[in-house]
Amino acid sequence: MSKVVARFAPSPTGYLHIGGARTALFNWLLARGSGGRFLLRIEDTDVERSSQEMTQAILDSMHWLGLDYDQEPYYQSKRFEVYKEYIQKLVRTGHAYYCRCTPEEVEEMREKARALGQKPKYSGKCREACLQPGPDTVIRLKAPQAGQTVYQDQVKGSIAVDNTQLDDLVLERMDGTPTYNLAVVADDIEMGITHVLRGDDHINNTPRQLLIYQALDVTPPFFGHVPMILGPDKKKLSKRHGALSVMAYKEMGYLPEALVNYLARLGWSYKDEEIFSLEDLLQKFSLDNLGASACVFDTEKLKWLNSHY
Ligand code: GLU
Repeated sequence: MSKVVARFAPSPTGYLHIGGARTALFNWLLARGSGGRFLLRIEDTDVERSSQEMTQAILDSMHWLGLDYDQEPYYQSKRFEVYKEYIQKLVRTGHAYYCRCTPEEVEEMREKARALGQKPKYSGKCREACLQPGPDTVIRLKAPQAGQTVYQDQVKGSIAVDNTQLDDLVLERMDGTPTYNLAVVADDIEMGITHVLRGDDHINNTPRQLLIYQALDVTPPFFGHVPMILGPDKKKLSKRHGALSVMAYKEMGYLPEALVNYLARLGWSYKDEEIFSLEDLLQKFSLDNLGASACVFDTEKLKWLNSHY
């Protein structure tokens, strides 16, 4: 098998938190543990919500945790030309088309579908209209109308989605900017990514991204979705559960070794061992031992681990 190329792709809209740090660590272990490459991509296309300060905070947090990456980070905000090329290729090959329906019209189509008990989605009105680009057009992917999109999730097993559930998703907005899924696929191809390991809040994006790979005639990477981290009340982990940013743990005097050990154990296990150095983790980590069900954040356990270092 060719060498693993994994990546961490944070959006710099906030500090690096427990969930993001765990995703970074798993990808780092997957790559470094097999002699592969680990790349960093800053997903900063949302200029309103992204900031240089947060990007720096993410880089500092990774450095403190000891998660080094190869090459300079990719910045999506600097790569719009690449995304345009991908979109144009899809138009040229007949896999994407210009659409002039207004957001109100699209909402009406969705309402109609809802009323019929169907999946609310774009009707495909402009699919065969052969429209030319204009100031009021978006570009949509021609999604297949039948069959299934199937993949083997490295954590959750086989996943199948009926294509009738998938929309002709917008690839380029009216203002010429690329949408999220298109940018992710273009970058993962350009970066030679072999494995995408990310939080399962992205699992609904994966069939959409697979359709883009298919239309581009490119073999997709392996995908794995790690389950959410929950608070003790079984709700999505947040600050009110006492979960803090990586930097806040640093400031409180926690050791990076303890935090890494703790993060690794959030969803990954190896026999009934608890204490793992980074070296141990590099040797023992494998996708096979990742759990498919949600795990619970426990500050006491983190404190306990910290006292062992
Ligand atoms: N930027 C996304 C996030 O921060 C990650 C996307 C991905 O890993 O594909 O949640």
